[in-house]
Amino acid sequence: MEDRYSDLEVKTCTPDQLHPKPDTSSLVFGKYFTDHMLEVPWNSQKGWMKPVISPIHDLQIHPAAKVLHYAIELFEGMKAYRGEDGRIRLFRPDRNMARMLNTAKRASLPAFDADEMIKCIKKLVQIDKEWIPHSTTSSLYIRPTFIATDPSLGVASPNQALLYVILCPVGPYFTSGLKPISLMADPQYVRSWPGGCGALKMGANYAPTIFIQKKSELLGHQQVLWLYGSDHQLTEVGTMNIFVFMKNKNGEKELVTPPLDGLILPGVTRLSLLELAREWKEFNVVERTITMKEVIQAHEEERLLEIFGAGTACVVCPVASISYQGHEYTIPSTESSLSQRFYKAMGDIHYGRLQHRWAVEVD
Ligand SMILES: *Cc1c(COP(=O)(O)O)cnc(C)c1O
Repeated sequence: MEDRYSDLEVKTCTPDQLHPKPDTSSLVFGKYFTDHMLEVPWNSQKGWMKPVISPIHDLQIHPAAKVLHYAIELFEGMKAYRGEDGRIRLFRPDRNMARMLNTAKRASLPAFDADEMIKCIKKLVQIDKEWIPHSTTSSLYIRPTFIATDPSLGVASPNQALLYVILCPVGPYFTSGLKPISLMADPQYVRSWPGGCGALKMGANYAPTIFIQKKSELLGHQQVLWLYGSDHQLTEVGTMNIFVFMKNKNGEKELVTPPLDGLILPGVTRLSLLELAREWKEFNVVERTITMKEVIQAHEEERLLEIFGAGTACVVCPVASISYQGHEYTIPSTESSLSQRFYKAMGDIHYGRLQHRWAVEVD
């Protein structure tokens, strides 16, 4: 294997290749890219080739490339943050690389060395660090992508692949405080099923959801609450993990999130919130199946405290309402909410207000 940081070749932009940086206030997610990208090609004969950082450019691939036909593709989503002290930090990149390796295995794409990849990503972020907004509500989104490129239509494991990484500056997800969203829960649609790949960040999982997302928007909602099974289990909200904060029948406070049973994407944010809450030891923290019936009952008995999504893009996203089987259920929300507290605790780590083992400095 030659996927070594020590072999990294860096070709930086000439001054005329540099792009103007957009205003932080006009940043639309995923629309602006930094000046450079990282590429690491692979083929089955030679294995990994040397990593290269070069000016961002279009890819040249054969029209038969497997990614274009059988969606042999996977991706990751992580962020770099500019701290209040000016230092730049990644958040738990080892978790993203472990998840990426797991997805690669299921996609028949080759394994790579996670530590070497993190070193290469750090170098890319350093080179483009001027793109990271000077703001503690903004960040740099990192999109590692892995595609099968061999020009062959056989439905077979790839002999040629490309792992690349691109970067986007992103503005605040919420411009004025956490804004609760409304959800459409329609059990006729599922995003994930037992034995499937819903727990993996494969591109093929996302294309079929866009139509349903559009439908929820037409009905006046912002996101889809994905249900599963005849008992209408809550699984995820949009592309976020879901948390329900409630009182159980004994009156004890409980934070519930669905278990990693193969239907749920194992979010790094999900894991981090669970770990934080378990450290706080102030309420029960449970990974278990939760159904719409249980949520509605808690709602009726006024035991429902909060529902929120969790993911890298927004950290936490409170839920205002759920439209389900002809009813609109309003979810309570308070100023001093748990989601607000998680948002603050995670922000303290991201922006270096708190020194923490999860924050990895890039320089
Ligand atoms: C990426 C993703 C998440 C959140 O994962 P994080 O690692 O916390 O960003 C949750 N659900 C789905 C479907 C996702 O694609």
